[in-house]
Amino acid sequence: MQRITILGATGSVGVSTLDVVSRHLKKYEVFALTGKSKLETLAAQCQKFQPKYAVVMDASSAEILKGMLAATRTATRVIFGMDALCAVSEDSDVDIVMAAIVGAAGLLPTLSAVKADKKVLLANKESLVMAGQVFNQALRSSSATLLPIDSEHNAIFQCLPINKSLSVAGVDKILLSASGGPFKGLTLADMKKVTPEQACAHPNWSMGNKISVDSASMMNKGLELIEACWLFDVNPVQIDIVIHPQSVVHSLVQYVDGSVLAQMGHPDMRTPIAHALAWPERIASGVENLNLIDVARLDFEAPDLVNFPCLVLALEAARVGQNAPAVLNAANEVAVEAFLQRRIEFTQIAEVVKESMFNFNFTEPDSLELVQETDIEARRASATYISRIER
Ligand code: NAD
Ligand code: MG
Repeated sequence: MQRITILGATGSVGVSTLDVVSRHLKKYEVFALTGKSKLETLAAQCQKFQPKYAVVMDASSAEILKGMLAATRTATRVIFGMDALCAVSEDSDVDIVMAAIVGAAGLLPTLSAVKADKKVLLANKESLVMAGQVFNQALRSSSATLLPIDSEHNAIFQCLPINKSLSVAGVDKILLSASGGPFKGLTLADMKKVTPEQACAHPNWSMGNKISVDSASMMNKGLELIEACWLFDVNPVQIDIVIHPQSVVHSLVQYVDGSVLAQMGHPDMRTPIAHALAWPERIASGVENLNLIDVARLDFEAPDLVNFPCLVLALEAARVGQNAPAVLNAANEVAVEAFLQRRIEFTQIAEVVKESMFNFNFTEPDSLELVQETDIEARRASATYISRIER
């Protein structure tokens, strides 16, 4: 029996993870579930999976959740706060931690899981983007196993040989797939007046709001390129982004002999989740088989770097290195939140990120403290800029 903590259980990835777990209750037992909002969902999950702990972020949410659990006679203990999140990630009874909190808030508990030698399933790409160096240092000095959940990175992982450096294995390039998002084909002028509802309506994937907006701006692909550099120890120039609107080929690896390996499947996060949960074995995920006759065609095209400035900014952050990705990530989180609150326009997300990046003196973020300082400073600068431009 493997015991699992799910950080961000009430979100899109968290719910998909519980769906896979519910198909294999002889193999996996839920140790802890965490969530910041959607307390009814968290209460229902606790009732169904009977975890030892439920973690929320503040005392009043904890009181509300306790009331809900008492009404259903669920014995789960409710705790709260960042220390509690870290505690359920590093508990000696835990084998697997699913890191599915969105944004920088996921960094500390995910790092705790790494330091405590867990099998860590990483959906929370922002923690690697902002703190790749610190994260990889922690990984090297632990015996943790890090498995990518992001569908593209999980696909790349599946197409790479195990325990071999990429040069020895003859890897030439990583080809990172992108659907192009809901605004593919539009110009910046067309995108000026788009609403949060339109930005969150992804054509192929159903996801949380933040990553949906990132997919619409193509910032998501930039964050994923940085994520891939840290995960697979490659330079940005070794990764090509290919637009593939059907989201069936989740990414590819090109070898020096001309071979290109791809991983394909329906756009359903339960596939990468099941892959990583059971790795190196395989388990059923609940996803139906891919019917290539129904898929019929697979299209590929180059990314549009003129109308998607967020992607260009992320590529620039990847090239600059140091704490530029941390600044990019913090500014983007603040800007996306302001867009979702209708305080700025969609096209101003890139403006906020650009302004924050170009006014920052980059340094080497070789400690957690420096990463956190960068994050705070970049958030402050972005918030100040937004207060000047908001409508
Ligand atoms: P979501 O918004 O649906 O869920 C986020 C979860 O994190 C929720 O449980 C929420 O309560 C919790 N949370 C939010 N803010 C928090 C905070 N400040 N402190 C503690 N908990 C907090 O997001 P999602 O779509 O499930 O994405 C989660 C992560 O996985 C993101 O990093 C995203 O980039 C990544 N990811 C998601 C998908 C997908 O299909 N949804 C695919 C690839 C990668
Ligand atoms: Mg992805």
